[in-house]
Amino acid sequence: MNARLESIRSIGKKSPAHLKSGHNKQLNEFGSHVFDRSSMELLLPKKALENLMNAIEGRERLDPSQVDAIAEVLKDWAIQHGATHYTHWFQPLTHSAAEKHDSFLSWNSEGQPIERFRGKELIQGEPDASSFPSGGLRCTHEARGYTVWDPTTPPFLWTGGDGVTLCIPSVFFSWKGEALDHKLPLLRSEQKIQEAGLRLLKFCGVEARAVYSTLGAEQEYFAIDRSLYLLRPDLSLVGRTVFGARPPKGQELEDHYFSSVKDRVLAYMHDFEREAAKLGIPLKTRHNEVAPAQHEVAPLFEKASLAVDHNLLLMELMRQTAVKHDLACLFHEKPFAGINGSGKHCNWSLATDTGLNLLDPKENSLLFLALLTAVIRAVHHHATLLRATIASPGNDHRLGGSEAPPTILSVYLGESLEKLVSDFIHERIEPEKLPRQIDLGLSHLPRHTTDRSDRNRTSFFAFTGNKFEFRAVGASASCSFPIAALNAIVADSLHQILDEMEKAAASAKGADQKFKLCLPILRMTLLASQPVIFGGNGYSAEWEKEAEKRGLPNIRKSYHAYAAMLDKSTIRALTGVLSEHELHSRYEIQVEQYAKTVQIEANLMIELFRTQILPAAVTWQEKLGRSLAVLSELKINPETRLLDQLSSLVSLIGDSIAAIDEVERVAKQTADLGWEAKAKVFCELASPKMEEARRLIDRLEAVVDNAVWPLPKYRELLFII
Ligand code: ADP
Ligand code: MG
Repeated sequence: MNARLESIRSIGKKSPAHLKSGHNKQLNEFGSHVFDRSSMELLLPKKALENLMNAIEGRERLDPSQVDAIAEVLKDWAIQHGATHYTHWFQPLTHSAAEKHDSFLSWNSEGQPIERFRGKELIQGEPDASSFPSGGLRCTHEARGYTVWDPTTPPFLWTGGDGVTLCIPSVFFSWKGEALDHKLPLLRSEQKIQEAGLRLLKFCGVEARAVYSTLGAEQEYFAIDRSLYLLRPDLSLVGRTVFGARPPKGQELEDHYFSSVKDRVLAYMHDFEREAAKLGIPLKTRHNEVAPAQHEVAPLFEKASLAVDHNLLLMELMRQTAVKHDLACLFHEKPFAGINGSGKHCNWSLATDTGLNLLDPKENSLLFLALLTAVIRAVHHHATLLRATIASPGNDHRLGGSEAPPTILSVYLGESLEKLVSDFIHERIEPEKLPRQIDLGLSHLPRHTTDRSDRNRTSFFAFTGNKFEFRAVGASASCSFPIAALNAIVADSLHQILDEMEKAAASAKGADQKFKLCLPILRMTLLASQPVIFGGNGYSAEWEKEAEKRGLPNIRKSYHAYAAMLDKSTIRALTGVLSEHELHSRYEIQVEQYAKTVQIEANLMIELFRTQILPAAVTWQEKLGRSLAVLSELKINPETRLLDQLSSLVSLIGDSIAAIDEVERVAKQTADLGWEAKAKVFCELASPKMEEARRLIDRLEAVVDNAVWPLPKYRELLFII
C-alpha cells in the first residue's frame, strides 16, 4: 500500500487531542502572559510607571533613568513565570516575526552566575540585519540594523519547546533610521492619522486628546490532517497545491458554512483560543467557512498597532498548536484551486481616546460625512496603491474567484447609504434634511441586510454600518501595510478637505451655518469620487466594462500592481510614513519575492512531476499494457482507449513540463537579469505554462490507478479528518 493510502487508513483511528483540564478559566487566564497595564501598575515604581504610561500614550519619550527599573521588574516578572530568555520580537519584511534569544543568565565580576537584564538591553538590540530583506537599504558590509522597544504593545511571554521566552515587541530599522520592518510605517501612519483626525474633531467642535485607527482582522484558514499534508511537498513548501483534480464534491452543496465544527478541529480551536487568551488576544468568534475544511476566527477590534501584532501572534499560535493536534493550518490565499480562498478581512475605523467611533453615523453628522467623503476620495485617488498593498503571488490566485473580491477596486456603501450619497451629490435632497437622514438611513437599518448581502462578498472595500471592511487583504499577509497606507491616504484626503472647509466656514456663526457652508465642498468631492462607488455584482462582465468606462484600474496580476508604490501621488500621500527611498526598497523586495515564489513553484512542479507523478503514470501504463497483452493472447478484444489516453496525456505533460523548464533555465542563465525582469518572465511566460501543465496533470489524476497515485487528493485533503 502506498504512503497516501496508509495515511488515510490511520486517520480513522485518530481522536481529538485531549486538552489539559480547566477549559473554563478564560477569565482568569486572559492576559496572564502579558506584562499589561495592571501588572505595570502593580509592580512598577511610581515614577517609572508614570514615564512608561506617558510613553505608551505618545506624550513623552522613555526616560533612560527609568528604564533600568522597568527592566528589573520585567525580568523578575518573566522569571517568576518560568522565562529563561528574552528577545526583541520584530517584524522584518518577510512573512513572520523574527527573534534572537538571549539568556537572562550572566556572570558578575567574581565569575558567579547571576540573572541580569539591563535597561539598555530592554530598549535596544542590534541583530545582524544583513540576511533580512532590505531592498537595497543596506548591503552586507553595512549590515547594522537596530531593534528598539515599542512600548505601545506590551511585552509578553511565549511558551514553546517546553520553555518560556520574554518577548519585547520592537521596531526594526537600518543605521540611517530607515524602516526595515512592517511595524514602523504603521506607527508613523498612526501619528499622521491622529494629526488629521484631531484637526477634523476640532473643526467639528468635538474634544479628544487622541485619535487612532482601529482594526478587527477576521482570519480565514484551512485545517487539514497533518499526515496527508506531509505527503504534499507543495503544501509544505509553498502553502498551496500546485496540482490536484477537482473532487466530485466540492463546496457546491454549501453544507460547510456555519455547520457544526468537527470534533478534532473544535479541540484544536479550543486549544489555540486558550493560548491566545493568555496572550491577551481578544478572540470572539469562530465558525466554519464556505469551503470544506475552511474556518474563520475573529477577535474584537483593538488599536490597529496592537491588533496587527496580535494577528501575527495568533497565526503563529495556530500553526504551532495545529501540530499538537496532528493537523496543519493553512493561511495561503488559495491552497486549493476551484475552492474558495482565504482572506483576512480588515475591519477599519478611527476612534478617539474618549470612546468615539468617527465612522459611526449616529455620532456627529458633519464629522461622519467629512470622514466618509475623505475615505471615498482616498480610495478613488489611490486605488492602485491599495491594490499594491494587497498584492502577492498568493492573492493572485484568490482575487476575482469564488467569492473573493475582484481585482477592480470599488467601494460598497450598502443600499441606503449609497442612495443617500447619490441623492446628496445630485441635489435631490435638501441640505437641512441631511443630518437626520443619515441617522435614519443607518440606525434603523438592520445591520445584516448590508453585512450579509451577496454583493458585499464581491466588494474590495465595503462600508458595514460603522466601519469599513477591507476585504481584499490576503489571509497570509500582515495587515500592517494595507492599514498604514489606508491611514496615510485618508489623512491626506482629510487635510485637503479641511483646507477647503476651514476656509469656507471661517465666518460661520454657529454649527448649523458651518455645516451648510461645508456641504458644497463635500458634495463636489464626492461627485469627483463617485465613479469608485459601486453596489452591484462585482463578478459580472458588465461591471468590468463599466469600470473601464469609469476609468477604474483593473490590475489582474500583482506583478503589475507594485509599480504604484513608486507613483508621485503615492510618495506624496505617504510622506511621514514611508520615504521615497523606503518605498523604493519595498518595491524591490516585493518584486523579488514575487519572482522567487513563482520560480519555486515552477521548480516544484517540475520535480513533483518527474519524481512522483511520472513514475506513477508509467507504473500504471506498464500494468495496463501487460493486461492488454494478456487479454489479447486470450483472444479477448482489449479495450485500448484508456492506455491511448494515458499515453497521449503523459507525452503532452512531458512537453508542457519541458516548456516550464526552458523558461526557468533561460531566467537562471541570464545573469544580469534583475528581479524586475525575472518577475516579468515568471508572471508572463512561466505562469501560463504552469497553468497548462496543471490542467493536464489534473486530467491525468483522473485516469491513473488510485492505488498508485502518490499525492493525497483534494477529496482526501478536504474531507477526511
Ligand atoms: P461581520 O462578522 O458581520 O463582518 P462583526 O460585527 O462581527 O461583523 O465585525 C467583524 C469584525 O469587525 C470584528 O473583529 C469586530 O471587532 C470588528 N469591528 C467592529 N467594530 C469595529 C470598529 N469600529 N473598528 C474596527 N473593527 C471593528
Ligand atoms: Mg465581516
